[in-house]
Amino acid sequence: MTRATVVGAGIVGLCTALYLQNSGRQVTLIDPLPPGAGTSSGNAGIISVGSVHPESMPGIWKEIPEMLLQSQAPVKLRPGYLLPFTPWLMRFLANSSAERSQRSAAAIHALTSRGLDYLLPLARQAAALDLIQQQGSLYVYGRKDQFEKAKRDNAYRERLGANSEIIEGSELNDVEPCLAPGLAGAILNPDAGHTVSPLRLSQALFRLFSQQGGEFIQTRVTHFDRMGNRVTRLEACGYRATDELFITAGAYSKELARLLGSSMLLDTERGYHLLMPQPGISLRRPVLFPPQAFAATMMTEGLRLAGTVEFAGLSAAPDYRRAFDMAVHARTLLPGLEGEGQSPWMGYRPSLPDSLPVISRSPWFNNVYFGFGHGHLGLTMAAVTGATLAAMAAGDSPPVDTAPYRIDRKI
Ligand SMILES: Cc1cc2nc3c(=O)[nH]c(=O)nc-3n(C[C@H](O)[C@H](O)[C@H](O)COP(=O)(O)OP(=O)(O)OC[C@H]3O[C@@H](n4cnc5c(N)ncnc54)[C@H](O)[C@@H]3O)c2cc1C
Repeated sequence: MTRATVVGAGIVGLCTALYLQNSGRQVTLIDPLPPGAGTSSGNAGIISVGSVHPESMPGIWKEIPEMLLQSQAPVKLRPGYLLPFTPWLMRFLANSSAERSQRSAAAIHALTSRGLDYLLPLARQAAALDLIQQQGSLYVYGRKDQFEKAKRDNAYRERLGANSEIIEGSELNDVEPCLAPGLAGAILNPDAGHTVSPLRLSQALFRLFSQQGGEFIQTRVTHFDRMGNRVTRLEACGYRATDELFITAGAYSKELARLLGSSMLLDTERGYHLLMPQPGISLRRPVLFPPQAFAATMMTEGLRLAGTVEFAGLSAAPDYRRAFDMAVHARTLLPGLEGEGQSPWMGYRPSLPDSLPVISRSPWFNNVYFGFGHGHLGLTMAAVTGATLAAMAAGDSPPVDTAPYRIDRKI
């Protein structure tokens, strides 16, 4: 039986491991953290079927002064990180042309539109369907000019085939009664789903993986042995032989890819959440506030406010004021919100300047595959990524055209 090793047990690694098992592999999963306990545990839980917009859109350059100068901007670049970040930022800006952002949008949509199609079968096999709800998601705009712009941008989503409903401000409280009165309006994405616990979903997928004979080793991979154009062994509590290697280590994949001959402009868009165990309000579906760059999702543990972006690399200490600031904004948008016992968290979105993940065979090693860089949409894209990698390795036809996600694409 083919032995496959998956490095990184976040949601992408877990889904990849399960699709590899389904294609007959004997799979070993390796991570220094318990499965799903890293960035994949703290997100907003939205399975954003039909999302299309890359982060780098025409006109994004106008936001750079605020990113640098305003201390609590929703998207913030720490001044001390400007120098190491400049190459990424330059390519990010280059990707904001109309032509490039439209190309990214089509490639994002190809993955997000299949998000639930590939996740639900895994959740069903894992007896975890109760952790996934399908009530859509609501993008809310406080000001009229923001709402008008969102409607224009939404026409573009619809051209790519994504469904949506425009909700005028006067109808908003019928859709979400806890929203403040007087907001300009919203766009409902009826196709989105959400998980009520990203961590429990990962844990359920991991239980299935173990029941199906999967092996888990809790350590960090630091080294690979190669013979010709194949990786033969890796260092993980001693040397271990493998027939196939999958790198799904989220924001930490950059160094592992470099060791395997592929240098990438991978950085992290750090994001925060604030969990409110007794929020005093309830939401019917995830509610996103794009101008403030955060979402509010009801989870089994309470209401989670999750979002914002901070560019500061992998080693700088968290600035939890960013998490608490979300609550300040949220109280004006959700007036009944109470905050007793709230706790902050930070995670590392793995992001490339063109907002597309890498889902790719290695150009240098015949038995090495990469699945990382899913940015704001890793939960949404995880299962279709896993199915695609497993199909590539088996020589089957993958669910999507993989050309846009190649590791050696020009970014
Ligand atoms: C605040 C916030 C809100 C978000 N909201 C959403 C949302 O609503 N919907 C959505 O789709 N996405 C969302 N995301 C994005 C999503 O959470 C990420 O894209 C996704 O979790 C990335 O998954 P991953 O498996 O690639 O990475 P991770 O979860 O980071 O997993 C990678 C794993 O690799 C391990 N690893 C690292 N180095 C090594 C090594 N050398 N050896 C072995 N293992 C290693 C790490 O320990 C880690 O466990 C959000 C992110 C944030 C921060």
